[in-house]
Amino acid sequence: MNASKTFQLYIDGAFCDAEDGAGFGSVEPATGRIWAEMPAASAADVDRAVAAARRALEEGPWPAMTPSARGKLLWRLGDLLAERAAEFGELETRDTGKIIRETQGQAAYVAHFYHYFAGLADKVQGHTLPIDKPDMMVMTLREPIGVVAAVVPWNSQLFLAAAKLGPALAAGNTVVLKAAEAGPASLLKFAELVDEAGFPPGVVNIITGFGEPCGRRLTSHPDVARVAFTGGPETARHVVRNTAENFAHLSLELGGKSPFIVFADADLDSAANGVVAGIFGASGQSCVAGSRLFLEAPVYDEMVERVVAKAAAIRIGDPLDAATEMGPLCTAAQVERIEQALAASLGAGGELLCGGRRPQGLSEGFFFEPTMVACETPDVVVAETELFGPVLSVFRFEGEEEAIELANRTRYGLAAGAFTRDIGRALRVAKRIRSGIAWINTYRAVSPVAPFGGYKDSGLGRECGAESVLDYTRVKTLWINTSQAPMADPFVMR
Ligand code: NAD
Repeated sequence: MNASKTFQLYIDGAFCDAEDGAGFGSVEPATGRIWAEMPAASAADVDRAVAAARRALEEGPWPAMTPSARGKLLWRLGDLLAERAAEFGELETRDTGKIIRETQGQAAYVAHFYHYFAGLADKVQGHTLPIDKPDMMVMTLREPIGVVAAVVPWNSQLFLAAAKLGPALAAGNTVVLKAAEAGPASLLKFAELVDEAGFPPGVVNIITGFGEPCGRRLTSHPDVARVAFTGGPETARHVVRNTAENFAHLSLELGGKSPFIVFADADLDSAANGVVAGIFGASGQSCVAGSRLFLEAPVYDEMVERVVAKAAAIRIGDPLDAATEMGPLCTAAQVERIEQALAASLGAGGELLCGGRRPQGLSEGFFFEPTMVACETPDVVVAETELFGPVLSVFRFEGEEEAIELANRTRYGLAAGAFTRDIGRALRVAKRIRSGIAWINTYRAVSPVAPFGGYKDSGLGRECGAESVLDYTRVKTLWINTSQAPMADPFVMR
C-alpha cells in the first residue's frame, strides 16, 4: 500500500477536496506515523453535501425509482463490497489498528447487511385503517423522512455505517455520512463502491472532518430531518442539543460498560473464551465490550486463573499480520486515558491481576497489554468508566440476586452476557438486566437481522432488524371520501 495516500470527500457524485483545502494527517496506530492525508470538511462542505442530498431527494431519478429498483442498487453495493472485502479490511486495519483477520471478516459480513436491507426495500408498507366513520377510506403511507445525517465513531466504521445507510436507502432517503476523524480511510474509499453501484449523484455523500465544525453543522443543519449517531455519550449530548435546531428524528448508539456473568455451573472453557472475545477482541474497542466480569465465588479463583493464562498468551503485534491476535489502540490519547484510569484505580479498590502497561518491544505504536483488575467495589475508576480498551474489571459475587444487582449498577445498558447451564436462571437474569442485548452462553454476536441498541446512557432507538427501516420513514395519513354525496355545508344545521 502507498505510504502517502490521499483521500477525498464524495459530494454530489463527485470526488473532491475540502473547499478551503483543509486536511489532516491520519496516523497509523501500529507505527504512530502519518500514513495518509485526509480532507477536513468545513461547514461550507457540509452545506454543499446537504444541498446535494436535498436535491437528490426531491428531483432526478431517486424519488422516481421503485422500491425494488432501490433494493437492486443496495444489493449491488453489497456485492461490490463482498468482492473487495480483503482490500477494505486491509485499509481499515492500516488506518485504525484493528487486526486484519477481524476487519477482513467484518467487511465481508457487512456486505450481507446491504443484502439484508436490499430485501427490505419493497416491504415497507402502510395500512388500511378500520376507520370509525362511514364512507371514508383511510390509509397510512410510509414516506422517506428526508436527508439523513449519519455520524460514526472510529471503530468499525464500515459496519456502523451499513446499519444506517442500509435502512435509510431502503426507505428512499438520501444520506450525508460523516466518517470519524480517526481512521476514516475505509469509509472514504467506500464512496467508490457507491459510485460504481450506480446510485444517482447526491443520494449518498461521504465526508469526514472534526466534531467542530463538521459534526455540529451536519447534525444541526436545517435541511437534515433524521440524525443517526454512534459515538460516546458526551458527544451525544451535543448532538441532542444540535437537533434542537432542526427537530430531526434521532437515534443514538452510545457506549457501554457491559457485565459478563459466570455462574458456578457454567462450562468454564466456553465462558473463558467468551470473556476473552468480549474484552480483548478488537483490543477492547467495542461498544459491547464485556468489560465487567462477575464470577460466582466457587469458580472465582479457577476462572481468574484461566482468563489470566489466556490473556498472557495473546499474540500482540502488527495488525496487518494474520497471526496477530491483538493490535494497537486507535489513538495515543486512548492509551493515555487507560493509563490514567489504572493509576487512579490501583491501590484504590483495584488490584492488578495481569497486564497494566505498554508491551515491551512495541514502543512505536499505541499498544497496551491485556489487563485485568480485581475490584473490591463497583466504584473503582476502571470499573465505572468506559475505557474502550483491553481492561477487564473482575468481581466476586454470591448468588443470582447479587449478580443482577452488581450488573445493573452502571449508567450504561448496552449489552450483557451470562454463562450458566440452568436455562431458567439464564432467562431470569436476561430479563432483569437493564440492557438492550443479552447474550446467553455466547458473546459479541451481531447480525443485520437482530435489533441492536441500549438502555439508559447507552442510547436511544435500535439499529438493524426489519423494523429499523420504519425508523427512516414518516407516516402520512390519507383520508378518502368514497361517498357519492357532496360534502355537507358545515354551517347548515341538519
Ligand atoms: P465520539 O463521540 O468522540 O465521536 C463520534 C463521532 O461524533 C465522530 O465522527 C466525531 O467527529 C463526531 N462528533 C464529535 N463532536 C461532534 C459534535 N459536536 N456534533 C456532531 N458530531 C460530533 O466517539 P469516539 O470516541 O470516536 O468513539 C467511541 C465511542 O463510540 C464509545 O463511547 C463507544 O462505546 C461508542 N460506540 C457505540 C457503538 C454502538 O453501536 N452503541 C458502536 C461503536 C462505538
